[in-house]
Amino acid sequence: MPENIVIVGAGQAGLQTLVTLRAEGFAGPVTMVGEEPFAPYQRPPLSKAYLLGKMERPRLFLKSAAFYAEAGCRMILGTRAGAIDRAKKTVALSNGDTLSYDKLVIATGTRAKMPRVPGADIPGVHTLRSIADVDRLQPELKAGRRAVIVGGGYIGLEVAAVAAKHGLSVTVVEFLPRVLARSVSPRVSEFFQTVHRENGVELLLGTGVEAFEGRGKLEAVRAGGKVIPADFALVGIGAVPNIELAREAGLACENGIVTDEYARTSDPDIYAAGDCTWHKGRDGAWLRLESVQNAIDQAKAAALSMAGKPRPYAEVPWFWSDQYDLKLQIAGLAREGDEEILRGDPAAHKFAFFYLRDGVLAAAVTVNLPADHLMARRLIAADTRIDAKKLADPEVKLKTLL
Ligand code: FAD
Repeated sequence: MPENIVIVGAGQAGLQTLVTLRAEGFAGPVTMVGEEPFAPYQRPPLSKAYLLGKMERPRLFLKSAAFYAEAGCRMILGTRAGAIDRAKKTVALSNGDTLSYDKLVIATGTRAKMPRVPGADIPGVHTLRSIADVDRLQPELKAGRRAVIVGGGYIGLEVAAVAAKHGLSVTVVEFLPRVLARSVSPRVSEFFQTVHRENGVELLLGTGVEAFEGRGKLEAVRAGGKVIPADFALVGIGAVPNIELAREAGLACENGIVTDEYARTSDPDIYAAGDCTWHKGRDGAWLRLESVQNAIDQAKAAALSMAGKPRPYAEVPWFWSDQYDLKLQIAGLAREGDEEILRGDPAAHKFAFFYLRDGVLAAAVTVNLPADHLMARRLIAADTRIDAKKLADPEVKLKTLL
């Protein structure tokens, strides 16, 4: 067992590393360093219930302050880890201190991507990743104001739904010809486009943002040759992994810090977990996932390895999104060429699309069917071969297919 563990990044994966280390009996010193002034909190509600005003701030925090004291974890918050010296096994902090480690975990997450267009730094152009971002965005959400959302991905569409519910006029500008194009099929995109339009959201698809305009404050967004008046804009065009710390230390990096199934980086004393990693999925393809599930399961793998109980990370990925009355849940990763099977009725806002690859269930997208989502995860994990006709028939219970 290592003597002393340092975790860089006080987010979902950083916290899970600590929790699993202690659960597995690691009793040595653990230090967690976080750039934000907060202990680890949940990010998903930032674009959902919390932004909507339906969740109090204390509920965002994943653990109470007392937990960290009881777990014997030294928390160094509001402090950035600036450089790793792998030969000396130290991490230099922005407060001038240096920490030494036996094992180091990098769980630095991602940051919001910005389009390289004029005016992106004008006040009133927002991104959404942190509590501080919500504090800036929330006062903008007043009925009658005009919001332009750049990017029809999950964060963009969730904020569009919240803004529409608040009575704002909302325009979504999406560069690709459909929303959620990177993660769902055209039929699922079509469904979400319809729902947003029914809620009064204008969708400008296949339209790139060209500039943010305004004197001292955002007044308009220029996109697809149009000038769209705007009181504020929210940019949700994806995230960039925070890998500079790892790259500068000479660790192997691609579109994330390269990790194996035990969450080990190219240095045997350094692990990485969560949004910042580049790892192999269940089918062997390299990928970077931005999800709570991945942050938790990969952090568990890192902690188990450090605690001397290595167990490979091979979980079925899953994800969710809340928009209006819709609970979208995704299990597995669908790929082009998969056979798509509809079960249920999209018009009733209760349905699922299943994806068969060579007859085996590879992925499932469900809307307002949480029990089917859970069952789909089990079916995917078991690489279940399923008859498409049975999957399409809502009378056939999924558990009978296991
Ligand atoms: P993070 O939680 O981002 O934590 C990383 C931490 O490291 C940050 O606090 C960062 O400030 C800190 N850090 C970075 N660099 C340094 C440094 N050099 N020194 C010290 N600290 C550093 N996932 C879902 O599964 N479902 C959802 O519905 C969903 N909704 C989301 C909505 C929003 C608005 C956002 C932003 C994300 C959402 N996600 C969702 C994604 C999910 O929150 C992330 O996948 C998860 O938080 C990843 O955890 P992490 O620990 O890897 O990174």
